[in-house]
Amino acid sequence: MSEDRPELNAQKTSSGATKKTGAGKDTFENVLPLVDPYGRKVTGLRVSITERCNLTCMYCHHEGAEGCTRGSSEKEMPPELICSIVHTAAKFGVRKVKFSGGEPLLRKDFEEILACLPSLKEVSATTNGILLAKRAKTLKAAGLDRVNVSLDSLVPERYEAITGAPPGTLEKVLQGIDRAVEAGLTPVKLNMVLLRGVNDDEIDSMMDFIRPYGGQVILQLIELMDIDPELAPYMIDSESLKKTLAKRAKEVRVRHLHHRKKYMIDGVEVEFVQPMDNSEFCANCSRLRVTADGKLKPCLLVNDNLVDAMGAGDQEEIEELLRLAVNRRKPYYRKEISVD
Ligand code: SAM
Repeated sequence: MSEDRPELNAQKTSSGATKKTGAGKDTFENVLPLVDPYGRKVTGLRVSITERCNLTCMYCHHEGAEGCTRGSSEKEMPPELICSIVHTAAKFGVRKVKFSGGEPLLRKDFEEILACLPSLKEVSATTNGILLAKRAKTLKAAGLDRVNVSLDSLVPERYEAITGAPPGTLEKVLQGIDRAVEAGLTPVKLNMVLLRGVNDDEIDSMMDFIRPYGGQVILQLIELMDIDPELAPYMIDSESLKKTLAKRAKEVRVRHLHHRKKYMIDGVEVEFVQPMDNSEFCANCSRLRVTADGKLKPCLLVNDNLVDAMGAGDQEEIEELLRLAVNRRKPYYRKEISVD
């Protein structure tokens, strides 16, 4: 960690701005929010809590984990560290936390992690939904507000081909979605990664599937990130899709995060996430990532600038590490400025 410290000069820590009250509690006045050198404020954390997974999706980016082991729980952050990171980040303006993986529901202590978090605007998780039916209620009770469920196809054979799941798995995922809605983990967002020639003809059937849930389930279409050249043939034409969605929409809204577009079509909400070659996506990125083995990760697509927080002793140290990681944030895609 020490070799990382000099960079901290670029952004002062806020330690001087905290003051002790008589009760020995810290109050935070005039604290510096987490703002990167490009003026982007960090208001969200995306925390991977395990690299282990019970699926082998053909396109998986493993949340940017390098040398992903998929099998071991030995190097995973303990609940105490996860909670310290979130508590510290919350003091400096982080309001939303999303848990991911691997498959986060493989962590038996997920409820324990949720229960020790500070009060936030939103705590969510992205899951493949296989283990959701059994745990939806306990997760909600422990503090989870909502879930994203990955669902690339409603056709069992296709679902199995994309995810490597055994027969019968899709049924479990659909039950998981029902139980999540019943438990109030809403809105449930269905994450559908669009794969040309594989599932891109299922957008309408997905919309038909979510309509009966009356707004409690949202469809989130995700542009494939072709991190591997073998995935290139599966890329869809995003521009043409956006035009079609806009033509069909009664209303189009723009979210602050990544400037994602939301289309209101035939009584359902469809969001489109377009991360590739998208400078607007990066310019409006307000997230810092945390890897399952406790590294603060400034960008999904960059692996040589991680900040190790695994051994961090206290909140002051975590604050320094957070500022260091935020200071290393750089938009991956930036607008080319042409000089004629
Ligand atoms: N196991 C959980 C799940 O299935 O949601 C969480 C981990 S998964 C890596 C998180 C999200 O990333 C999923 O919705 C998945 O579809 C998306 N994802 C993974 N690889 C991707 C890629 N190459 N392009 C776009 N999205 C991807």
